Amino acid sequence: MANEFFSDETVSEVRERANILEVVSDYVSIKKTGRNYKGLCPFHSEKTPSFMVNEEKQIFHCFGCGEGGDVFTFLMKVGQFSFPEAVEALAKRYGIRIVSREISPARKKEVAKKELLFQINQVASDYYHDRLLRHREGEAGRAYFAQRGMSKEFLEGYRLGYAPDRWDGLVQHLQDKKFSLEMAREVGLLFPKKREGWYDVFRARIIFPILDIHQRVVGFGGRVIKEGQPKYINSSESMIYHKGEVLYGLPVAKQFIAEKDCVIIAEGYFDLLTLHQYGFTNSVATLGTALTTQHIRTLKRYTRNVITLFDGDEAGIHATLRTLPLFLEEEVWPKTVALPKGEDPDGFLRKGNRDELERRVAEAEPLFDFFLESLRKKFDVKSVDGKVKMAEEALALIRGIPEGIRRNFYVKRLAERVDIQESMVYDMLQPSPKDRIKVREEGKKPAEKKTFPRSEEMVVRLMVQHPHLIPKISKEGITGDFESPFLKKMAEALVAFYQRKGELDLGEALEKVGEDLKEGVCSFVFQENGLEGGDLEKVVEDCFQKIREGRLKKEKQELLKRIREAEKRKGEKGLEALLLEWQELVKREGSLRKVNPQNGRGVK
Ligand SMILES: [Zn+2]
Repeated sequence: MANEFFSDETVSEVRERANILEVVSDYVSIKKTGRNYKGLCPFHSEKTPSFMVNEEKQIFHCFGCGEGGDVFTFLMKVGQFSFPEAVEALAKRYGIRIVSREISPARKKEVAKKELLFQINQVASDYYHDRLLRHREGEAGRAYFAQRGMSKEFLEGYRLGYAPDRWDGLVQHLQDKKFSLEMAREVGLLFPKKREGWYDVFRARIIFPILDIHQRVVGFGGRVIKEGQPKYINSSESMIYHKGEVLYGLPVAKQFIAEKDCVIIAEGYFDLLTLHQYGFTNSVATLGTALTTQHIRTLKRYTRNVITLFDGDEAGIHATLRTLPLFLEEEVWPKTVALPKGEDPDGFLRKGNRDELERRVAEAEPLFDFFLESLRKKFDVKSVDGKVKMAEEALALIRGIPEGIRRNFYVKRLAERVDIQESMVYDMLQPSPKDRIKVREEGKKPAEKKTFPRSEEMVVRLMVQHPHLIPKISKEGITGDFESPFLKKMAEALVAFYQRKGELDLGEALEKVGEDLKEGVCSFVFQENGLEGGDLEKVVEDCFQKIREGRLKKEKQELLKRIREAEKRKGEKGLEALLLEWQELVKREGSLRKVNPQNGRGVK
């Protein structure tokens, strides 16, 4: 994944110069314990630290949730960076000049095209804005905003605009500036005429430009001024506009969200503008789409305190409830403000309810409580049947929450609201036997770890912690005798990596060993168990001995079984051959005991 943007050398240099301790310390407070550092995991909620960082190997691992990797992985997970973003951020921090971005011609073309689309949007936005503020044609737009009490400064701040009542206003403007009209069509500004030529999509509408976080215009919304349908039209999705990612108002709001450590989420252009106009500047809005996980992740960078503020009607309540599982999955615990029936934030504020809304925001209800309340309305909680149904529905949601204080808190809440004992809720929370099997199949198999043959685990641990032993281990071909397929795969991956590079850079190896092995390799870095200071070569040899003995024992058992079967069938020739094999095994066993295992021939 590294190599679409940077060469391996660039990535290696950044990895070498970056210090994982410093980077982690920006997000987690860590303390030194022995050779490692320990802290509370940023990826799951916990009371006692199980998040470890090893400075020497430049690796982190959480024994609670299994997350682990190098400094790039950490940044990607904690800051929602892409891999190239993580490389760039670290290069900047450690003063490494990234020489060339090796971009393919196809990618270059894509970048150039995106650039052009942004330009066209910018020119269109300037055009609409200019019509609104300075042209006779914009009179109707000015009157509309004036009636809403929005000042010129306000209109400028949000770059609001007006599309005149003409078919070719923007067409002409773009033509004068020599822009490709075909490209303007791609961002949804023009339609092609039936025969030839183009016409404006936005006519006689006030215009809301939609900006991304870098202040680039990605799309537009337009609202009719007089009567007419549709009331709102929006840019279609394009190479630069994805509804599920953009939050209206965020470029202005982000500073206030950070300051107040809280964000209000509304829906639609005017709800957002009016909220800002009335001082709720830490608000953002979704546009023409329900809230997505991507939205939540974007907001998490600024705050984890989220308040939803939707319309006070059935659709608004429905929209509110639909967000809850998304938030919980992202480990965000939202609150919600309910408006009187039939009100939306825009209308409510403009009727003089500023202080009232402020009070409601301050007293926002946890969305989970709001959800339970909605269930109480849906089911008859006086009947046993109703209680069970309500609990089931709530538990479907609670199961998605990682175990911990929060989850216990929600279980308690649920028990209170349904009026049943907490222990009963916990019983219901237990996965059904069917689910349990599924978990075992899909899950990360922590059980397997416990059943690893000790000596094999030790060998792999030594490979991870003391890579200079790898050539010795691979020379003896001991991994061929491993009983655990998982450890065998892990050991062979490490050997292959070491042979290719002549060393073991764990960060780089982790990137390449594959997801299934990654967690195991990571955790082995942190398991010391008194290996320090001992004669490691001796430890390795002891392990070899035990592994070979184990293998031989197994072979003997199998052979013995076959001999017994042959005896039962009597008179068959096979028995003699088996007995010869048996003698061979006994001999090998003897030599394994006598011979120094270092010189021992492989058992294979
Ligand atoms: Zn964790």
